[in-house]
Amino acid sequence: MPKTADIVIIGGGGVGTATAYYLAKSGRKNVVVLEKNTVCSGSTGRCGAGIRAQWGLELNCRMALACLDTFEHLDEELGLPTGLNQGGYLLVAYKEKEWAQFQKNVELQHSLGIMSEAFTDVKRAQEICPGVAVDDAIGFTFYQRDGHADPFLTTFAFQEAAKRYGATFCKFTEVVGLKATKGGMLVETNRGNIDCKDVINCAGSWAQDVAALAGVKLPNWAERHQIIITEPVDPGVCPPMLMSFSGNYYIQQRPHGSIIAGESPSSDIRLGYTSNVNSIASIARTVLKLLPRAKNIRVVRQWAGHYDMTPDSAPILGETDVKHFWHATGFSGHGFMLAPVAGQIMTALLNGDKPPFDPTIMDYKRFERGEKIVEPNVV
Ligand SMILES: Cc1cc2nc3c(=O)[nH]c(=O)nc-3n(C[C@H](O)[C@H](O)[C@H](O)COP(=O)(O)OP(=O)(O)OC[C@H]3O[C@@H](n4cnc5c(N)ncnc54)[C@H](O)[C@@H]3O)c2cc1C
Repeated sequence: MPKTADIVIIGGGGVGTATAYYLAKSGRKNVVVLEKNTVCSGSTGRCGAGIRAQWGLELNCRMALACLDTFEHLDEELGLPTGLNQGGYLLVAYKEKEWAQFQKNVELQHSLGIMSEAFTDVKRAQEICPGVAVDDAIGFTFYQRDGHADPFLTTFAFQEAAKRYGATFCKFTEVVGLKATKGGMLVETNRGNIDCKDVINCAGSWAQDVAALAGVKLPNWAERHQIIITEPVDPGVCPPMLMSFSGNYYIQQRPHGSIIAGESPSSDIRLGYTSNVNSIASIARTVLKLLPRAKNIRVVRQWAGHYDMTPDSAPILGETDVKHFWHATGFSGHGFMLAPVAGQIMTALLNGDKPPFDPTIMDYKRFERGEKIVEPNVV
């Protein structure tokens, strides 16, 4: 356990490890990640790991596209696999209003170089996802470069690469206190204290509690989401990430054939990983309806994870009123895909450089000012 650090990152999820990597790579010495459990034990290790550029807000399209560009070269850059699978995202619309919005999104995406398709022909959907039962849908969009990666491999790869640049990772190290000092912060943990210059709160669905240690009030809350995985079926049953906002599902197939599927709860605001049988039944019914070829396979496991929600489902990035105390939190249902860009933005901010995307709009005080980031394509 180091006694001093330049930068302390609280939380070893996708966002914390990516931030550690970009900071250490930029030349920052003595970057220390404190993780109360093990790396990737929070939302990142429990997520669907989808990566898509099909958003409806220019900022999100641009940030996600930058993440796709990064993911496409990440194995090479980090020297370890991330499990990237670019089977595309097939988005399904069941409602007229939703379909109209999808068509607007595609126009915007094209203007930004995201060459997605919008179509109504079910046969085209079935070319992308053989056998998919979507006769009740009214429209689709698809972008081949979208896909999913392996969250464990990705986080591990970021961690190992950060370590090669000199970052230190301390697991089972819980931050229990934060105090402002002259020119920095004192981080109190269950394993001793660290004196440092800057602290970044990457604590995911615990970010609100961590912020409170320094007297900062965040509007975040944890929302519990359920997800299932089946025994393997023929690869090719669901090549894309199949997703619908109005249909309330996302489904992907792992390289060895298992199907991972999830849905959003109508309301499940709590911190906790308890599973429930109703979710298994509901998600399994959805998989069966959409993918008849998956008939008779068994669910092997169900788990729960948290969305670290904000009032507009968009992240909070930047420094707080407490000098030297920064946040990269509140990624709701899309923090895995945005982790590389979040890490790049935080690195630029802490180095006093111009960030690749202006994070001013993602300031934590926007809610007090009555501002919101309005994204139509969000789960
Ligand atoms: C079911 C589900 C499906 C999802 N699907 C997708 C998807 O398809 N695509 C996508 O992009 N995103 C998805 N997400 C969202 C994504 O998982 C999160 O946005 C992302 O993983 C957040 O990463 P993080 O590093 O901020 O948080 P986390 O991964 O939760 O990491 C935070 C870490 O902080 C640690 N910590 C907390 N408090 C302390 C403390 N006091 N001291 C030390 N350590 C502490 C925790 O132990 C944890 O490991 C999904 C989430 C869920 C639950």
